[in-house]
Amino acid sequence: MTKKTTSSTPEAGFAALGLDPRLLDALTALGYEEPTPVQRATIPVLLEGKDVLAMAATGTGKTAAFALPLLHRIDPTAAPRARLAALVLVPTRELAMQVAEAVHRYGRPFGAAVISLYGGASMEQQIRSLKRGVDVVIATPGRALDHIRRKTLHLDHVKTVVLDEADEMLDMGFAEDLEAILSELPATRQTALFSATIPARITAIAKAHLKDPVVIRIERPATAPGETAKVRQVAYLVPRAHKMAALARVLDVEAPESAMVFCRTRTEVDQLTETLVAHGYRAEALHGGLSQDQRDRVMKRFRSRGSDLLIATDVAARGLDVKHVTHVVNFDVPWESESYTHRIGRTGRAGREGVAITLAEPREHRILRSIEAATGQKIEIGTVPSVADLRTRKLEQLRDQVVAILTNEDVDRYRPIVEQLAEEHDVMDIAAAAIRMVARKSESDQEPVEIPSVVPRGGDRDAHTPRPARQSRREHAGKVGGAAVARLYIGAGRKLKIRPGDIVGAIAGEANIPIAQIGAVQIGDRHSIVEVPEDKAGYIIAKLSASTIKGKKVRVRRDQA
Ligand code: AMP
Repeated sequence: MTKKTTSSTPEAGFAALGLDPRLLDALTALGYEEPTPVQRATIPVLLEGKDVLAMAATGTGKTAAFALPLLHRIDPTAAPRARLAALVLVPTRELAMQVAEAVHRYGRPFGAAVISLYGGASMEQQIRSLKRGVDVVIATPGRALDHIRRKTLHLDHVKTVVLDEADEMLDMGFAEDLEAILSELPATRQTALFSATIPARITAIAKAHLKDPVVIRIERPATAPGETAKVRQVAYLVPRAHKMAALARVLDVEAPESAMVFCRTRTEVDQLTETLVAHGYRAEALHGGLSQDQRDRVMKRFRSRGSDLLIATDVAARGLDVKHVTHVVNFDVPWESESYTHRIGRTGRAGREGVAITLAEPREHRILRSIEAATGQKIEIGTVPSVADLRTRKLEQLRDQVVAILTNEDVDRYRPIVEQLAEEHDVMDIAAAAIRMVARKSESDQEPVEIPSVVPRGGDRDAHTPRPARQSRREHAGKVGGAAVARLYIGAGRKLKIRPGDIVGAIAGEANIPIAQIGAVQIGDRHSIVEVPEDKAGYIIAKLSASTIKGKKVRVRRDQA
């Protein structure tokens, strides 16, 4: 029987906003279960054609909030010169690439042609793409103006213009460029302005260029402090590419008796569950893509301690109340402080101290701060445990296990062996060897590697700390540390039980490349792809070819795709 509750299908949440059914399919495929607060507030207003002034930071789902409605207004059949329906202005080249990628993904079912225009890239190539005709342009203001002046960007048919991260664009000195671009756009167009903060300069732009805008601020209602008083709250700032490894490390060190891990999408839930099971955990997935029966069974096993980790989306875990949860982990920062409070309220029950751990991307730092403001409680920023921390913790765990056996169990049966061994060996050595034997069982066959985490500099508590943000966007867009990236093909994958950590570990260990310079890793059935700095690709290939991964010789070459 596969019965689905309507509340957990994306169709229910997103369809109620009036989106095109083809977009709903795209969202289901991405694993989105329900709209975020910014999306819920903004999408219907933009679909109605009204102007919007929205206060929303990165990590709130703001990109989809403007990208989904603008796709309704494109017309890929129009003549190339008349085709451009939407212009999105963003402060940086990294954000331009990132937003273009998102719009492209959402717009695939419409056949939307999307390009990004930013400085430093070939003008000729951009002009060729524009000539062929595009539906949506994502541009930095300087480059957009350049094209407008050369008459290679025609704005006569633009129906929607979006100013994304408007406060940052002003901070970067783009005020005049923005004015110039806005004055070139048809007076009838719709304008949407998104900004993390709304200082007076933003209000002035809104007054001059937005028509009777609907102002959207996602209020974060204060929560009663008592609710989460017994919960220790920690956050780690980790680049996206290292989140999975960071989660495994944190779990290894915390050794939770019973934990709930929350993710944003179904896809993420499935991936995490698979990885954690491979890592040796009794983990189970809970999301809206499962039938009611399946969900009931998963919850029952978790309640009766038949599984230790429950990996869930908010929607699927709604109403689930389990007394013995010792740890709540937010694999992503939740959209709302209410949801944060609700999640972490699941631990720290029955007078015991609970632990709430949040993995945030450096650029999401701001959202953590607004959660702190809403809950009135501090979230400590920690550093992901190092390999040394992990080893120390493992030894402590072994010691605790031995103490537990000494105090609670009868070991008489084993004394004769010890006596016999003691005739030839030192008793301390015998005990150490026995512990070594146990330790070996819990050791994975791969060496742990250091995981980079960002510790905010002095400006932790100050409103403007966008620096780490840039860096993480760059990584997101496939650029590692700003340098050119090469994709390497490695002839081993899931079938050989290869995990991203094996590949990162091999590159770091064999070629002595800092982990922060290693980009995304994709594991296929029989091969894997990893992104590395272009200038080190040849060296890495040579080093890996001369060594082994998980004890096996593997083929390593540049990926031809
Ligand atoms: P943004 O604030 O636009 O940078 O989005 C943050 C992240 O949330 C992106 O990785 C999006 O793909 C993801 N996202 C956006 N909307 C949703 C949603 N409704 N459900 C799950 N994930 C989402």
